[in-house]
Amino acid sequence: MSEAAMAGSTTQGELGTVVIGGGLAAAHCVHALREGGYTKPITLIASENEVPYERPPLSKEYLQGRKPAQELPPFTADWYVEADVDLRLGVTAESIDVSAKKVELGGPVSVAYENLVIATGCRSRLGGRNANMEGWDLPGVYTLRSLEDAKRLKEHLVSGKNLVIIGAGWIGMEVAASARAAGVEVTVITPDPVPLATAMGSEFGSHVAQLHVSNGVQCRFGTAVSGIALDPDKGLAVQTPTGDIRADFVLLAIGAVPNNELAVAAGLEIGTGVVVDEHLRSSNPDILAIGDIAEARNTALGRAIRVEHWDNAIRQGKLAAATILGRDESYDWLPYFFTDQFGLGMEYVGDRGADDEAVVRGDMTSGEFIIFWLRKGVITAAMNVNIWDVNDHLRTMIGKNIPVATLQDTDNDLMAL
Ligand SMILES: Cc1cc2nc3c(=O)[nH]c(=O)nc-3n(C[C@H](O)[C@H](O)[C@H](O)COP(=O)(O)OP(=O)(O)OC[C@H]3O[C@@H](n4cnc5c(N)ncnc54)[C@H](O)[C@@H]3O)c2cc1C
Repeated sequence: MSEAAMAGSTTQGELGTVVIGGGLAAAHCVHALREGGYTKPITLIASENEVPYERPPLSKEYLQGRKPAQELPPFTADWYVEADVDLRLGVTAESIDVSAKKVELGGPVSVAYENLVIATGCRSRLGGRNANMEGWDLPGVYTLRSLEDAKRLKEHLVSGKNLVIIGAGWIGMEVAASARAAGVEVTVITPDPVPLATAMGSEFGSHVAQLHVSNGVQCRFGTAVSGIALDPDKGLAVQTPTGDIRADFVLLAIGAVPNNELAVAAGLEIGTGVVVDEHLRSSNPDILAIGDIAEARNTALGRAIRVEHWDNAIRQGKLAAATILGRDESYDWLPYFFTDQFGLGMEYVGDRGADDEAVVRGDMTSGEFIIFWLRKGVITAAMNVNIWDVNDHLRTMIGKNIPVATLQDTDNDLMAL
């Protein structure tokens, strides 16, 4: 941390910043506050018992045994002590008293704030798309959101076992790849025609489907799960209109739901998440919201978006700190994310719309290509697949009107476009 911040000390009884969360957004917010010279008290209320950590490896390197749990936190437990951040692990904020400006922690315990940051993230969606899926709460049916979830799931990744994954979004497909690497027999089921259909459209979804099939994943696309049953002798059965699929364990990977409840009860404006402006201030100017929970006004796009990605959580954590420090910074960057499946590494930048036209540069069968998405001829998003050091340049191409043939022609120097 900076010398200025190290030199500063908090004054007893002085009001400061309280952050509710304990995920990546919260960690980066408190870190950026101290780095920026904030000397008032900082309290971080975190439900989990873990020092705030990165979730992306939970479905990839951690599950594959390539990254141990102790390497997941961006900042060590010692850092919080040195930075004089009152990190309260295993503590859940129960309510916010907006008129008294304090957070209730259960019983008589509360913590008062000058600024409050809500960074409560998301939880795994349960119960299926129709919310009535029988059996989602049976033993042997798992979700993946936390390190604790990942530890539990990892114990089952034993060669020869049968895993059925319900849902073919990012987490479902990443876990499928990690489980295959451990020799697990994997079936992925989704009512969609291809994986990642909503997020990425059919071109990339078909490519991911082929990648998984060629690595031995059984793909049941276009198939809705009606329920899960447990037979004491035969184990779990995932029920579909075309018959049951036997499973030793099941992963329910059907999306995430924002942990909005505190904000709703506090009377904050709610949309798809907690509605905040471009400085991340909510409808109550003393309260900010960041990360997966925030529906924030993005000045680059001219509208509000809620993003469930790593890069966004980090950057919004830093931006909230800037706002509290009185700096005039805004949410002005384009969404970005990365994934990694069976050696397919990809980075995405932009704001793809469901109806945008996909234009592929390069040969998809080679596994190295770029997809651009265009709306009325204008590039809205781009994704580099197994081609590196180009994403920053792709970011500069968003908003440009470049002819399709020019984009597709690999003889044209990408960096000159
Ligand atoms: C398995 C997995 C893999 C992922 N892979 C990728 C990837 O490859 N690329 C990518 O860009 N993104 C990925 N993501 C998404 C990324 O991790 C999230 O966008 C990011 O973690 C969001 O950070 P956050 O701080 O907003 O919320 P979270 O990380 O969800 O943290 C919120 C924290 O708040 C705590 N909390 C909730 N309510 C309370 C309360 N009342 N009191 C106290 N604490 C509370 C929760 O327990 C949680 O610890 C992945 C996510 C998961 C789960």
